[in-house]
Amino acid sequence: MKPMGPIPPEFAGQQGALAIGGRAAADWIEGDAPVFVYDPAIVAARVARFRASFAGIDLHYAIKANPFPPLLAAMAGMVDGFDVASAGELDKVAGLGLPVSFAGPGKRDGELAAAIAAGIALNVESEGEAERALTIAARLGRVPRLAVRVNPDVELRGSGMRMGGRPSPFGIDAVRVPVLVRRLVAADADWRGFHIYAGSQALDAQAIIDTHAATLDLAARLADEAGHAPPLVNLGGGFGVPYFAGDTALEVEKVGAALTDALSGRAAVLADSRFAIELGRWLVAEAGVYLARVIDRKESGGETFLILSGGLNHQLAASGNFGTVVRRNYPLAVAHAMGAEWHETVSVVGPLCTPLDRLGDRVALPAAAAGDVIAIFLAGAYGASASPAAFLGHPAAAERLAR
Ligand SMILES: *Cc1c(COP(=O)(O)O)cnc(C)c1O
Repeated sequence: MKPMGPIPPEFAGQQGALAIGGRAAADWIEGDAPVFVYDPAIVAARVARFRASFAGIDLHYAIKANPFPPLLAAMAGMVDGFDVASAGELDKVAGLGLPVSFAGPGKRDGELAAAIAAGIALNVESEGEAERALTIAARLGRVPRLAVRVNPDVELRGSGMRMGGRPSPFGIDAVRVPVLVRRLVAADADWRGFHIYAGSQALDAQAIIDTHAATLDLAARLADEAGHAPPLVNLGGGFGVPYFAGDTALEVEKVGAALTDALSGRAAVLADSRFAIELGRWLVAEAGVYLARVIDRKESGGETFLILSGGLNHQLAASGNFGTVVRRNYPLAVAHAMGAEWHETVSVVGPLCTPLDRLGDRVALPAAAAGDVIAIFLAGAYGASASPAAFLGHPAAAERLAR
């Protein structure tokens, strides 16, 4: 038997039939078609928790974690801005009435033009991109809103995915940033400030606290060298969620208290700056559950397999093939038997003809038969939109907002 990660708190205490947004899992799934269900009340609870500890700091949602349009519409009333990384993502939030910033390497001219025409803030990722944005803005007769994404010389310790402190396609190396800021200001761009993103999926509060301190120092140093105060400093995010056995939830209150403290003693050049944190998975991962039906149950070599109606084609991350080095088990459950004693050790697999399609490796579950529904938790981030839906030609999963 191998351990599973922790079931998120909103579901962990449930007994009997799993309820999502007040409705039984069995009511959300139609026939054998897998479905992702997202509960906006859980997102709202995360937002409230953030607000309680990060007073005065803007909260942005990085929509690549989950761009399901009804979820974005619900979140428009919760957060202060959306961060997008393509023109396709920009289209999804354009009508929602919140400030938008657009990061990501390799923005095409058409994407730059769309963002400039819409008055969206672009986080420029290279000097070349900045020059293209200035040229396009001049052609359109617009003042471009440009922030500079910095490739920081700090990195987020304990981060699942490091994006700073080394050669990187993201952002501009810190030493070259002051020159670029002066260039943007001289070109009469509306310089918006800095975007400094140092990593992702950190569960260690102290690592994030240290990163915030280093990020504030860096922003102040770059602003001083540039000779211009940044209107906004986007401090990045990187708040993680516990996916695996042994993971413990991030103590966000500690991070908020330390950041509030650090900001109260910030450098003079940052005195009038606004600050933002951009979060993806921390806001939405625990709000989503992936439900699939057991199609077959079989034995092989002494092992029992539950074969589901969907697998890594819908929920790649749970198979361990999305940004993890060692495959470990996400939390999963038999949807009608929450809280029940486990009966047996089974491997839960998807229907794809590849051994990669394993969603639970020798996990302990109550007995399940063909027709039962299996729930895989932590499916609210990097699920439907981050999985190879076309691979092997099975139908796409449905997505539903619980309300
Ligand atoms: C991916 C990404 C995020 C969101 O990351 P999470 O780990 O989901 O919080 C935020 N900002 C940037 C720049 C990103 O690339």
